[in-house]
Amino acid sequence: MLIKPFRSFESNTTTPPIWRRRQLLCAGASVLLLGLLPKSAYAASILGVRVWPARDYTRLTIESDQPLAYTSRLLQEPERIVVDFKGLTLDTTLKALVAKITPNDPQIRQVRVGQFTPDTVRLVLDLKDAVKPQVFTLPPISNYRHRLVFDLYPAIPPDPLLDLIAKTEAKAMVNAPHAPPGLTGPKTSAPLDPSDAFFERFAKGETPSSGTSDLLAQQKNPQDTARAPSTRAGDDKYSLSQQTPAKAHTVRLLTIAIDPGHGGEDPGAIGKKGTYEKNVVLDIARRLRTKIDALPNMRAMMTRDDDYFVPLHVRVQKARRVEADLFVSIHADAFITPKAHGSSVFALSNHGASSTTAKWIANKENTSDLIGGVNIKTQDKAVSHALLDMSTTAQINDSMRYGNYVLNEIGRINKLHKNAVEQASFAVLKAPDIPSVLVETAFISNPEEEVKLNTPAYREQMANAILRGIKRYFSANPPLAKNKML
Ligand SMILES: [Zn+2]
Repeated sequence: MLIKPFRSFESNTTTPPIWRRRQLLCAGASVLLLGLLPKSAYAASILGVRVWPARDYTRLTIESDQPLAYTSRLLQEPERIVVDFKGLTLDTTLKALVAKITPNDPQIRQVRVGQFTPDTVRLVLDLKDAVKPQVFTLPPISNYRHRLVFDLYPAIPPDPLLDLIAKTEAKAMVNAPHAPPGLTGPKTSAPLDPSDAFFERFAKGETPSSGTSDLLAQQKNPQDTARAPSTRAGDDKYSLSQQTPAKAHTVRLLTIAIDPGHGGEDPGAIGKKGTYEKNVVLDIARRLRTKIDALPNMRAMMTRDDDYFVPLHVRVQKARRVEADLFVSIHADAFITPKAHGSSVFALSNHGASSTTAKWIANKENTSDLIGGVNIKTQDKAVSHALLDMSTTAQINDSMRYGNYVLNEIGRINKLHKNAVEQASFAVLKAPDIPSVLVETAFISNPEEEVKLNTPAYREQMANAILRGIKRYFSANPPLAKNKML
């Protein structure tokens, strides 16, 4: 393995005087001391190194059998982070980090590592652009020993709302009557769900919820006018007061926040055959997103769309940032006994859990932050926790109604663990203003259900069932107009 020399870049004893002076000036002006040496250094061994690149942030984790004695500095021109490990000898595990940096990593350009002095290993993270690093340690938990974590946030963080607006504009172009060739997707011949009647009316702005405050202008697809929604059999009781003539109008898109559980350092539950919950739920979430984005009047926002960890309160923040109409968290957890099977749907509770199983699962889900690893020193924690205590009875009632529609649809494709929406204190369901449910798609700890979760057809059926539940909820509970421009 090629370990690039870094001494000429980072050592004050060998750098040219001009560069050294510049570096010292830089040190005086903007070097951040990110870590401090503990009083005593131990002879620690590195157990593993992991990199989770993502647009939100890139995480680099160094796991060791004992806490590491380290100092880290953020340097500029060029942007880089220099980490010195005291009392450490360079080994193959740490060297392996060099090859783990991928070209598409949004934050890290390359990693250099070497034995800087007889008792110091130096690690240099060369960055693609300016970052706001968070460096912190995590105590042993679950299967992990001591972890040293570098979370590298881009100086200008991606905004889920701006991403969604960009996606919506692209969708408006596709739906425009004279969209350029290649922008329109293939025509689908899937049979219409009965609740599609509602969405056709919603698309035409023919619900009381649309009006002057519906701000997102969208051209009507001329094909829609050829259909006769009032004659379509539907199971929703919602009736039109008056047919309106076809004309250009304004509607808003219904926004669904899809939350694939776990990710990155947090694998979620692991099946006997080695299936990772974080991977199967991401696949189901992506399928659901594709289906939602293919509908003319809905759009999806994923709280994560790759294999990296998102803290529970950040998932809620992202959904609130885009003013989501509904939130669905997707999971496939294990239980203490492999016999437990069947799908479940959960909503928040403000009066304790509805069963001991629900309480057990909620407690397990809520440990995600400890396993995934959050920096407890981050300032916004107090704020986010205050927000999470604002959940209302109205939100819970809406979530129960929404959960029932989803549960009924899932009951058509898999056995149900319980015939009712369960309730417990899930941290991820605490958006005070968004009806939120958590779907346990199956028990990954049940051998037959692990096989199911590994079957693309089952994951497709699950995504379809969740979507049908969402559509039926909307058709029975027409969404209100929103006041803010999205
Ligand atoms: Zn889970």
